[in-house]
Amino acid sequence: MLDLLKSYFGYDSFKPLQEEIIRHTLDKKDSLVTMSTGSGKSLCYQLPALMMDGVTLVVSPLISLMKDQVDALRENGIAAEYINSSLSDEEIKRVYKDARSGQIKLLYIAPERLASLNFKTFLSSLKISLIAVDEAHCISEWGHEFRPNYRNLHILREALPNTPLIALTATATSAVRKDIVEQLKIRPNKIFSSSFNRPNLSYSTLPKRAAFETLLNRLSKHKDESAIIYTISRKDTEKLAKNLNKNGIKALPYHAGLTPEVRKKTHEKFLHDRVQVIAATVAFGMGIDKPNIRLVFHYDMPKSIENYYQETGRAGRDGLPSECVLLYSYGDKIKHEFFINQLESSTEKQISQTKLEQVLEFCDSLSCRRAFLLNYFGETLKTENCESCDICLNTQETVDSTIITQKILSAVIKTGERFGLNYIAAILRGSKRQQIEKFGHDQLSVFGISAEVSEDELKYIMRQLIAKKFLAKQPGEYPTIYVSNLGKKFLNSEDSVMLPIFVPTKTTKSNKKRAQNELDYDQSLFEKLRMLRKKIADEKGVPPFIIFGDISLREMSYYFPQSLESFAEISGVGATKLEQFGKAFIKTIKSHAEEHGLPEKSFPR
Ligand code: ADP
Ligand code: ZN
Repeated sequence: MLDLLKSYFGYDSFKPLQEEIIRHTLDKKDSLVTMSTGSGKSLCYQLPALMMDGVTLVVSPLISLMKDQVDALRENGIAAEYINSSLSDEEIKRVYKDARSGQIKLLYIAPERLASLNFKTFLSSLKISLIAVDEAHCISEWGHEFRPNYRNLHILREALPNTPLIALTATATSAVRKDIVEQLKIRPNKIFSSSFNRPNLSYSTLPKRAAFETLLNRLSKHKDESAIIYTISRKDTEKLAKNLNKNGIKALPYHAGLTPEVRKKTHEKFLHDRVQVIAATVAFGMGIDKPNIRLVFHYDMPKSIENYYQETGRAGRDGLPSECVLLYSYGDKIKHEFFINQLESSTEKQISQTKLEQVLEFCDSLSCRRAFLLNYFGETLKTENCESCDICLNTQETVDSTIITQKILSAVIKTGERFGLNYIAAILRGSKRQQIEKFGHDQLSVFGISAEVSEDELKYIMRQLIAKKFLAKQPGEYPTIYVSNLGKKFLNSEDSVMLPIFVPTKTTKSNKKRAQNELDYDQSLFEKLRMLRKKIADEKGVPPFIIFGDISLREMSYYFPQSLESFAEISGVGATKLEQFGKAFIKTIKSHAEEHGLPEKSFPR
């Protein structure tokens, strides 16, 4: 198995659970695999497909996904085909013929095919070794992406009662799992599942202020890398894309109001790295199988934690560090509530409202974001500090904050406990605001008492004080804060208080961590290799990641392999890719290495 893994896929070892699942499948047993995005589910049926005689049928919901998967398999020297409505009758006939003569190892099909009589006859003429059902949650009405056509799968099950079946999905609540097992008659009902945790994703949430600048700032850290920006409204996707282009960033909008052709083109440009950023509504969802999306930016707050998890889940499928940033505001909540109020059923309304409140709780929370997300799906995070969310990165050190706390609490009391964080910060900083003068608050002893502290820091401290329950929030359109009994007790005591230290640029630490985590690769060589990859991909008409993933390019730019032998050591280089692309890549690496006097490094493996 390891030989096949290296020679076809170019990998040296299995990812967690892959080997177990593959063995289980080779034993001709059914299974349901629920593993998070990027955990390598496809290999769980692709490798068995190579080892079993006959053809593996793969049911997949989206035409675009099928094509990418088949292209990727072919680049690895594996005979794969698909049948869907994008093929002409002639082409379908050819695929039928090749399948019958045993020339195809993996055959991808759309579920609607199963209902056609022609297709059933065709199936009965094949030797089918394995059925794989991708995106299996589509079969369940409890899921968020129900596809009525998936109900056709029972036809397949009945026609091939003794063929093993493997169903795979990245998102399945317990209700959805149960549904999949029942409908697909998975026996013995074996479920392989891995944690929902996505360790390579970092999470941060920010109150929405200077949103576009924040976005530009984040994008500047991901120069030339793929990003998705989610907004609630279609109009905003258009506006954002336009403004990004004005700022020299290639961006396109994507939403359900565009024609299918435009959407298809946009998706393709994104896949082929012709456009860097997609500003999208949630319509840009299933089918985004691009492995190297480095930033998912929620310009507007999502409507539920499930949505958030799904949408951020599109980042970093290849396992490399990627960032998820969420901007939230009371205004977004109102926008969602507008839609919620239009729902007909009152239970549905209530559920949606609760889900929305949970998102706000997530944004406002002062405990680990990752722990929060995992909790939501019934898991607990094993470590206390995840080291890659804004909270965990900020809370490593504490400082004595007694005096600033006293100043803040006094300012809240002296202004009558009727204002929000912004106003209190303005008072403490001594800002000249009309409203402040109108209320005569510029005459207070606390006015300008902390002029040296930045607004961000003051607000950060106030949020910490809310979390510590010294301050409390009075909800409403403009939430105000008041001093709790605990806070009053503190003011009248001689106690001191320690608070997490404020780190102004929330990313400095995570950057440092990144460098340690990853190979310290040669960036300029990476750029050259990326261009080469793009050129080859364009010539072949496939997305660049199908030639080599970012991980492979990074390894090349670190080890500088200059012979076919050492190039074969790179992760993702199997026999076919070595033969097809080895020379071209080695040539680029060699000339770069010579130019800069860089020796080839040996591999630790
Ligand atoms: P999923 O379908 O679970 O989201 P994929 O099957 O797309 O995940 O795999 C995610 C990434 O991991 C892909 O880039 C894939 O090539 C890579 N991968 C899969 N198995 C291995 C392995 N054993 N070693 C290294 N990389 C792997
Ligand atoms: Zn954390």
